[in-house]
Amino acid sequence: MNYAEFYKQSVEDPQTFWAKQAELIDWHQPYTQVLDYSNPPFARWFVDGQTNLCFNAVDRWVDKQGDQPALITVSTETNTEKVYSFRELQREVQRMAAVMQSLGVGKGDRVLIYMPMIAEAAFAMLACARIGAIHSVVFGGFASNSLATRITDARPTLIISVDAGSRGGKRVPYKPLLDAAIAMSPHKPQRVLLVDRGLVAMDWVAGRDVDYAAARGQNMEAHVPVTWLESNEASYILYTSGTTGHPKGVQRDVGGYAVALASSMQHIYCGRAGETYFSTSDIGWVVGHSYIVYGPLIAGMATIMYEGLPVAPDAGIWWSIVEKYKVTRMFTAPTAVRVLKKYPTEFMHQYDLSSLKTLYLAGEPLDETTSHWISSELGVPVIDNYWQTETGWPILTIAKGVEDLPTKLGSPGIPVYGYKIKILNETSGEICGANEKGVVVIEGPLPPGCMQTVYGDDSRFVKTYWNNFRTEQVYSTFDWGIRDADGYYFILGRTDDVINVAGHRLGTREIEESISSHGNVAEVAVVGVEDKLKGQVAVAFVILKNANPVATAEGKLAMEKEIMAVVDKHLGALARPARVHFVALLPKTRSGKLLRRSLQAICEGRDPGELTTIEDPASLDQIRAVLQG
Ligand code: ATP
Ligand code: MG
Repeated sequence: MNYAEFYKQSVEDPQTFWAKQAELIDWHQPYTQVLDYSNPPFARWFVDGQTNLCFNAVDRWVDKQGDQPALITVSTETNTEKVYSFRELQREVQRMAAVMQSLGVGKGDRVLIYMPMIAEAAFAMLACARIGAIHSVVFGGFASNSLATRITDARPTLIISVDAGSRGGKRVPYKPLLDAAIAMSPHKPQRVLLVDRGLVAMDWVAGRDVDYAAARGQNMEAHVPVTWLESNEASYILYTSGTTGHPKGVQRDVGGYAVALASSMQHIYCGRAGETYFSTSDIGWVVGHSYIVYGPLIAGMATIMYEGLPVAPDAGIWWSIVEKYKVTRMFTAPTAVRVLKKYPTEFMHQYDLSSLKTLYLAGEPLDETTSHWISSELGVPVIDNYWQTETGWPILTIAKGVEDLPTKLGSPGIPVYGYKIKILNETSGEICGANEKGVVVIEGPLPPGCMQTVYGDDSRFVKTYWNNFRTEQVYSTFDWGIRDADGYYFILGRTDDVINVAGHRLGTREIEESISSHGNVAEVAVVGVEDKLKGQVAVAFVILKNANPVATAEGKLAMEKEIMAVVDKHLGALARPARVHFVALLPKTRSGKLLRRSLQAICEGRDPGELTTIEDPASLDQIRAVLQG
């Protein structure tokens, strides 16, 4: 079947199409209905079917290939490396599951995982899936404030964490941040399970904190049966970066997600059981959920979890991993490739990379230079894929496993099977013509694997994602895009304001809120500004209540430092603005809306665009002046 026919069936006859894909996973009890869309926009896939993500990722491979590698952990921070076979992984997951149960975790309870890239983090995710607990992984780079809002929203029974992570050889304590977050949140978890890596000392809270090594020691022979779940029960919650100041808890199901991942592993990533998959993402992001933990394992592949920088001990580290474990499919972000590009190519060419068949890139626009460079150096195709936390798996790409269609530079590709994509005019809601810019939307029902709802808030799911166009109810991606005459799509940026710093997504609103908490800040605007190395950096424009302290150059510098420290404390150093400028006026529309796009354009030396609605054009001159001064 060619891709056009494959795609056509997926959208015109989803029942038949997805029934076929559902054969890729194991079901404990067959479903009675492929799709129930009687209550749009809520789609229910594989109704009444019973399955389990952990069973599909681990148990079903134990008989077939129990001694083959399943999880490979490499840490250049602690100089440790370990290979777990499917059988060993099954044992470790059961130990973790038994510990969780002994701490009172049962089906439907939330478990918050705040951990770096270590094996126990994957055990914890899989153990939750095994017993029907709902995990919520919070990225380890987040500081107390961000962590606290997620604790408050998810109300976890248990939190699993560690003494510390490590970055570039520097220990990064987790426990004090976690304790501060718990103190801030009105929700108090009953227990905190801690993996003591021996990196830094911890203050243990008696009666609450539990040492994982000791608890595991009491559960070495644990047999924890799989809890079969109805396909539409929740498997996990993952928070988006939170542009709106209140992050959205993306809730995912069980059966639809397993089917979508299994099918994407075959049709998009072309992975085969027994091969090795290497995704350089982090378990705190959606790529980590779908393509470090669940996807590769569901396909019977070994998966690599890497803790460390891409350039330490040197810029050859990833390629040494590819050689050693004969990686066939690799997944990373353009920003990481841009970092590697700064180093001599010998770092890459000293290794035998002949196992590698394809490199996948996602998360941000892939520029031509980066794409050309990496694909010619590696001598393998580079496949861009566009998707979101909300969808859980690609929306646009070239599904090479179905048909090896050509790629186009600058385009992530064409709609993935199951997704009915349209580009709509922002104001009229009409479908855009070829090469006409509009908002990228998806017609319901969303395919299997996509978000079910916003955790605990169905109305927010509808209000946020589905009510954006007067003409019809469609899912908005909040990204601008165009479709060319050949049907290839191009993503032109976000309609909301999120910045991407070295592959980490940060809401400008969150940064603004943090800066506003400084006693002398009257008003603030944060925009993402293009940066050669990091993709984007945050730049803040602040109006002070009392501008006297910034009358001198020293004063400005001191105040800038103070404000940066506030952001560090709330959100972590990743969110710290690269510059803080002090102004007396911010560019706004007459209705009072900040003209972010103009602000950003000026910072990037571009034309500020249409300004008919600006309240005071002098505000822009002032911005130009501070940028020059
Ligand atoms: P939030 O929803 O909280 O604002 P976020 O959108 O930054 O967070 P993600 O879901 O991880 O978090 O990112 C998805 C977004 O990343 C897409 O909507 C798009 O803007 C961008 N993106 C992802 N992949 C690509 C790609 N291949 N090309 C261009 N842009 C991409
Ligand atoms: Mg988003």
